[in-house]
Amino acid sequence: EEASSAKSTFLAQMSHEIRTPIHAILGMNEMILRQSDNKDITEFAQNIDSAGNTLLALINSILDFSKIEDGRMEIVPVRYDTADFISDLINSVSTLAFEKDLSFKTSIDKTLPSALFGDALRLSQVIMNLLTNAVKYTEEGEVVLTMRYDGRMDERALIYVSVKDTGEGIRKEDLKRIFESFERVDEYRNRHIEGSGLGISIVSDILKLMNSTLNVESTYGAGSLFYFTIAQEIADETPVGDYEKKSEETREKSEKKPLISAMDARILVVDDNSMNLKVINKLLGLCDIKPELVSSGKEAIECMKNRTYDIVFMDHMMPEMDGIVTLHQLKEKGLIPEKTTMIMLSANAIAGSKEKYLAEGFDDYLSKPIPLDLLIKILIKYLDPAIISQKAKALPDEADKDKAQIGLPAIEGIDLKKAFENMPDRDQLTELFKTFCDMAPSDVKELSAAFESGVRGADKDHLLLYRVKAHSMKNSAAQIGAADLSRKALELETAAREHNLVYIMGGHDGFVKDYLEMSDRIKTALFGGEDKEDRVMELNTLLEKLELIERAMEEFDTQALNDLSIELDRHEYPSEKIEGLVDALKEGIRDFDAGKVKEAAAGLRSV
Ligand code: ADP
Repeated sequence: EEASSAKSTFLAQMSHEIRTPIHAILGMNEMILRQSDNKDITEFAQNIDSAGNTLLALINSILDFSKIEDGRMEIVPVRYDTADFISDLINSVSTLAFEKDLSFKTSIDKTLPSALFGDALRLSQVIMNLLTNAVKYTEEGEVVLTMRYDGRMDERALIYVSVKDTGEGIRKEDLKRIFESFERVDEYRNRHIEGSGLGISIVSDILKLMNSTLNVESTYGAGSLFYFTIAQEIADETPVGDYEKKSEETREKSEKKPLISAMDARILVVDDNSMNLKVINKLLGLCDIKPELVSSGKEAIECMKNRTYDIVFMDHMMPEMDGIVTLHQLKEKGLIPEKTTMIMLSANAIAGSKEKYLAEGFDDYLSKPIPLDLLIKILIKYLDPAIISQKAKALPDEADKDKAQIGLPAIEGIDLKKAFENMPDRDQLTELFKTFCDMAPSDVKELSAAFESGVRGADKDHLLLYRVKAHSMKNSAAQIGAADLSRKALELETAAREHNLVYIMGGHDGFVKDYLEMSDRIKTALFGGEDKEDRVMELNTLLEKLELIERAMEEFDTQALNDLSIELDRHEYPSEKIEGLVDALKEGIRDFDAGKVKEAAAGLRSV
């Protein structure tokens, strides 16, 4: 027994130690993947990435296995949000399924309690493992995740979870063996599939620790069904409803704190979205702080080479180097002094993301749009108390908010109260509205360019650009209280993440239109709108554009077409007839239909 326990301890320690260099290898390799233009090198790096990740998964399994053997696997119950929990799972699996061309379906019970108490981390590990196996051992068809509320037992919720696939299935005589450690079945057929035979055994052991049992039914050649029922304590009984919506809404609420002043704080903010930079600049300004603002990881590194900061706020989603990669580079270069606090700014308010960011090496995390009171909490927590003083003026309370609302005219689609909550100063808020309007055309342009190459052109890198841009527009809209618009952006962002091109094709045009219309409405309400004259495009100008459009059609210059089409969108035309022809023209451009364009052009020339 002693020898066996020594072995488990050794395994546990070794696998822990091995993880650190693997992370370094994968991190470095990620740089190569991002920076290399050489096809061969990229391909090698992709292989390193895939093998590295397999190795990492293996090490993690061994670590779990030895923990279980050693009796050191602990169940740590925490309160968790059901909707976030489910979103997390779905987000992680849909990409895997997409890569294998499998359809990934879910059937989630709307009556599940909206918050539970249990070991969310382990439970998600269990379900993830079943889901990845389902994807791994299925060549075509679908994978279905079901979660059902099976009522209560002793005040606890019984939750039935199943993962079903249409894969290769398992022979009856093999069913028992898959529960054994290091056992793989059907080895000849599965020889190309990587695995250690540890997964199911760990899943089943973890479930046992949580007083549940893993069951399996399988038809060889047709598919498998893995299922279990688990009891979790109920933290909030309200039915979860539409989990997707809920998970986005989750946001920490906390008591209002009085304002502080911290004039001498040295703060750097890194965010690619200039609206976000403005926002945090203003919010910090309320605390008398003048932060340095930069818009990329690269610039952040330059700044940190030259200066020392008390706090660095870093956005997660940025094109080129994202926040995590930047942090890793800074660490490698030794550019983060001990006294500098690194805070991740992110719009992913999903369960486990905080833990993830902390594990990546961030000290703390703030979700966007940043509530001023939480920002102040962070400042108080991490700044030297000697440079902080209380301000007499407290944050505006509810009554003030209503006054503010009277101060600004109502704008359709905007919840002014919400906007004011995000930026509790009327002048500053007005300025933000202005920024939103100023940025809208270029935002739309960038999104549409990414749409052309990433969605229509089905280019994965550009699809990522689309996702990043939609994400950033989601933030901008949320910031000014345009919840509906923000939700639409979120849907596009999610679709891009899930490679759901069909959804984007259907939603993109409408979203762009809504976004520009929102900007127009704000302009009209707050800034007196644009001069009508500016908006009307005269026939002469239109005919000039026409030539450009025809040339771009001939040269298949989708980028130019896209820009031109947006320009057409933003104008009005001298007569209804012209208006109609322009619509036909736009349709022709959208469908890349030379015939339609020609016809509309002929019509316009003969007006
Ligand atoms: P591995 O690392 O090999 O995937 P697991 O313990 O997760 O190890 O699974 C053990 C064996 O069970 C696998 O090698 C595979 O043969 C079989 N298996 C597991 N899940 C499925 C599934 N969904 N469909 C078919 N076979 C499966």
